[in-house]
Amino acid sequence: MNLIIFGPPGSGKGTYASRLKSILGIKEVSTGDLFRDIVQQDSPLADKVRNYMKRGELVPDEIVIELLRSIIEKPEVKAKGFILDGFPRTLAQAEALDKITKISAIIVLKVSEEIIIERLSTRRICKKCETIYNVKYLKPKAEGVCDKCGGELYQREDDKPETIKKRLAIYDSQSKPVLEHYRGKIPFVEITTPSIDTHPEEMVEKILDGLQKLNLN
Ligand code: AMP
Repeated sequence: MNLIIFGPPGSGKGTYASRLKSILGIKEVSTGDLFRDIVQQDSPLADKVRNYMKRGELVPDEIVIELLRSIIEKPEVKAKGFILDGFPRTLAQAEALDKITKISAIIVLKVSEEIIIERLSTRRICKKCETIYNVKYLKPKAEGVCDKCGGELYQREDDKPETIKKRLAIYDSQSKPVLEHYRGKIPFVEITTPSIDTHPEEMVEKILDGLQKLNLN
């Protein structure tokens, strides 16, 4: 099963994808996480990517597409299937993906701008394992410490208010057309977040229900 999880920044893609991968036994491929690893390195690519990410802008298509291709063509990813989190984010990326592999379904997360802004400004990430928390709505057991690995939690530089607005504008102009590209071509599982404190498990249940109705393998 090859899935895409799609939605604006802060819609819960990473949180739900990491739960779905365990439940469905598929690989999670998050281009954002891959780039966050790359920028830790000391290389010309890391410098380039770091600048785009800091500003909340998209990394150029050629770079993202090649990175994604190298991951999903790995035998273990091909064999298990995958959930793509954060890709495709432009029409060119969706068209490139069509040439690389077949997608079984797209999970579309709908969420109000109010919820997004509140959620992103209170989001924290583990430095070590990238588990996502929220200081108000998805608290770790001990403040500032990851429940899973004990790593230190931090706020992403692009989760600051000025950058959030820019990322939302980019989502509207560049990423939304991706939905029109897939409409009528692959099944859609559309899920709305009812409120800011809806628990992730409730959302994951809804997604699984939607997928089950499609009878995918
Ligand atoms: P995310 O964690 O998905 O919000 O991604 C964080 C940042 O990584 C984005 O704001 C972009 O700078 C970069 N990025 C991640 N995925 C993509 C993509 N598919 N296309 C372009 N840039 C991306």
